[in-house]
Amino acid sequence: MGIDLGTANTLVYVSGKGIVLQEPSVVAMDQDEKVPLAVGEDAKRMLGRTPGNVVALRPLRDGVIADFDTAELMLKHFIARVHEGRTLVSPRIVIGIPSGVTGVERRAVMDAASQAGARDVYLIDEPVAAAIGAGLPVAEPTGNMIIDIGGGTTEVAVLSLQGTVLSESVRVAGDELSESISQYMKKVHNLVIGERTSEEIKITIGSAYPVDDDSMMEVRGLHLLSGLPRTVTVKAPEIRESMSEPLAVIVDAVKRTLERTPPELAADIIDRGIMLAGGGALLKGIDTLISHETGIVVHVAADPLSCVVLGTGRVLENFKQLERVFSGRSRNF
Ligand code: ADP
Ligand code: MG
Repeated sequence: MGIDLGTANTLVYVSGKGIVLQEPSVVAMDQDEKVPLAVGEDAKRMLGRTPGNVVALRPLRDGVIADFDTAELMLKHFIARVHEGRTLVSPRIVIGIPSGVTGVERRAVMDAASQAGARDVYLIDEPVAAAIGAGLPVAEPTGNMIIDIGGGTTEVAVLSLQGTVLSESVRVAGDELSESISQYMKKVHNLVIGERTSEEIKITIGSAYPVDDDSMMEVRGLHLLSGLPRTVTVKAPEIRESMSEPLAVIVDAVKRTLERTPPELAADIIDRGIMLAGGGALLKGIDTLISHETGIVVHVAADPLSCVVLGTGRVLENFKQLERVFSGRSRNF
């Protein structure tokens, strides 16, 4: 079994079957009883819509495991769901986690997976898994650059010979882009909108570079001055402008990593281009923006949201050849 424990989405791959689960990394908890009410898609629908005693949490929100107990509960829930009550447990689990996760948190993730029934637990850094899932030849002595723009973190890494040569992780990614839209709507349109609405604007008409500038969208929210619900029409260029700061942070992380790259590997990257993965890679024009700012060709992975989990799957299925990619391992007998 391969798992992508993402800040926004968790995916599970089962050898021989493919991707069997894809759910938001959200847990809704009853505060009084301290029990989970919903996990995944059902819990995401509750974000911003809960009564006082219920909280919808994203335990990995900023890429670090902010709320470990909830993260553990969520991981166990998803593993159990994949097993569907059958006692059959996968002896081997490969889990992709953000590279910024601390040693203590790594240990905790491995323990949670062990408790869920895994005998052998392996951890793989997300950029490595993403690169494998995107089809990059990570085992060769060639430099490959991968940028994984997730919900909470953007990870930029240069890989060669199954290893990370250098990497950089910034806590600015998809969530921050949505948050910028939300702040803009409040400041300029006096409209208060929720997290789900700002994400919808980003996905529908958001862009990082002028692509489809005539598109517009009706947005519903709470008018700050009258205190009443109101509909406002927004245009693509203003939404792009509202995201310019977090976009610049992402671009700077890429430039900094390129500047630190040893010359031979930099030459490989110029030849091969940069690969973009993660949900943020789906933002319109993000490839053009990065290409424009670095002068290097940028490719978007075929299925950016699935790269990490497909990478864990490929590692499972080619275990002997890719044995050196892991960043942690625990064994239980
Ligand atoms: P993580 O690995 O951190 O769980 P994902 O790779 O699943 O993150 O990406 C989630 C992020 O991608 C979210 O911020 C989401 O809003 C964003 N996203 C998903 N689809 C799109 C899209 N079509 N356009 C722009 N952003 C998108
Ligand atoms: Mg991810």
